[in-house]
Amino acid sequence: MTTTPDLDLMPGVEATPLALLLLGRQSDPSSERGVDCPGDLPAASDPTLVARARAAKAALGDRVFVLGHHYQRDEVIQFADVTGDSFKLAQQAAARPEAEFIVFCGVHFMAESADVLTGPDQAVVLPDLAAGCSMADMATFDQVEQCWDVLTAAGIADTVVPVSYMNSSAAIKGFTGRHGGTICTSSNAKRALTWAFEQGTAGHPTKVLFLPDQHLGRNTAVREMGLLLEDCVVYDPHKPGGGLTVEQLRAATVILWKGHCSVHGRFTVDSVRDVRGRVPGVNVLVHPECTHDVVRAADLVGSTEFIISTLDAAEPGSAWAIGTELNLVRRLAKSHPDKTVVFLDKTVCFCSTMNRIDLPHLVWSLEQLVEGVVPNRIEVEPETARWAKAALERMLALP
Ligand code: SF4
Repeated sequence: MTTTPDLDLMPGVEATPLALLLLGRQSDPSSERGVDCPGDLPAASDPTLVARARAAKAALGDRVFVLGHHYQRDEVIQFADVTGDSFKLAQQAAARPEAEFIVFCGVHFMAESADVLTGPDQAVVLPDLAAGCSMADMATFDQVEQCWDVLTAAGIADTVVPVSYMNSSAAIKGFTGRHGGTICTSSNAKRALTWAFEQGTAGHPTKVLFLPDQHLGRNTAVREMGLLLEDCVVYDPHKPGGGLTVEQLRAATVILWKGHCSVHGRFTVDSVRDVRGRVPGVNVLVHPECTHDVVRAADLVGSTEFIISTLDAAEPGSAWAIGTELNLVRRLAKSHPDKTVVFLDKTVCFCSTMNRIDLPHLVWSLEQLVEGVVPNRIEVEPETARWAKAALERMLALP
């Protein structure tokens, strides 16, 4: 268990439960994030980096399969064999039993899922172990076990089905599988919640514990499934009993974990108002990790795959303000010169941990593989992997 150092905090400001690491340094076993990057990285200024990546990939041939998440930098995405959101990449990892090495250009929890879904002879490599996810770090295994104890004490645990967002550690996915739940992504959250509610009966209706993104859970339950805001409660792992009374827990239909994405959480209703003033006729299209107020103020809401396909199908001359990670928005603006594509916020909004994977780290990991060394291998402990796989397979089998 990591202890929080004594800090002089301003009144009303709570200490973060995890000691913050300098990115790429030290290790924190209770964090979803990784540790040091060993070895000598090529300099970012090396003019031969693109040629080196190309040569290493060619030397490895079909032995390597490179997956690239949509939020990755252009310099990395150009070497991806497949690009996608976390759902598509999970499917792609599972569908490549012939690849000896899966190089995952994304973040730590995605590489863990790829390891769970691939065979024991396949190695999943994360080019920089410090590429984590602040949202995934907001639900630790101990906290979630404690929450289950609270639900048990309230007499409702046997009616609760956990639904965990892909953006969670393998340990949380394992917990979900062990308790009969499923994983979801932003593409299939409605199907996952529908499935979870179908697990109950008329006399014994199901409640859902949604981990760890409260916004995706609330937006799906209220906007897509017609539940009321009052049907949802927020469980705060830093408060005794989650900050909820037994009556509140018993009355709730959806128990949302108090987690969020630090990137999508930056968009506000003011950003929506502002862009409507700046760009005449603009369509506001946002990701469901944004707050409920932002989602309500937007014109369209959907996963990164939905955002991409909406832009592809949009009329030439139309105008779009996109509320998601900046690397993707920039790429969309470049690939749709016949449309106006702007970023929803005025300030820069990259996912800093996704951006840890850069060309030097990719070159380094590919060249290590060529030399016969498997760097930064992500391996999930077998018992955790067994249950995480059960939860992931339930997701892959959703109608
Ligand atoms: S964009 Fe948000 S949810 Fe996605 S990896 Fe970054 S911090 Fe995590």
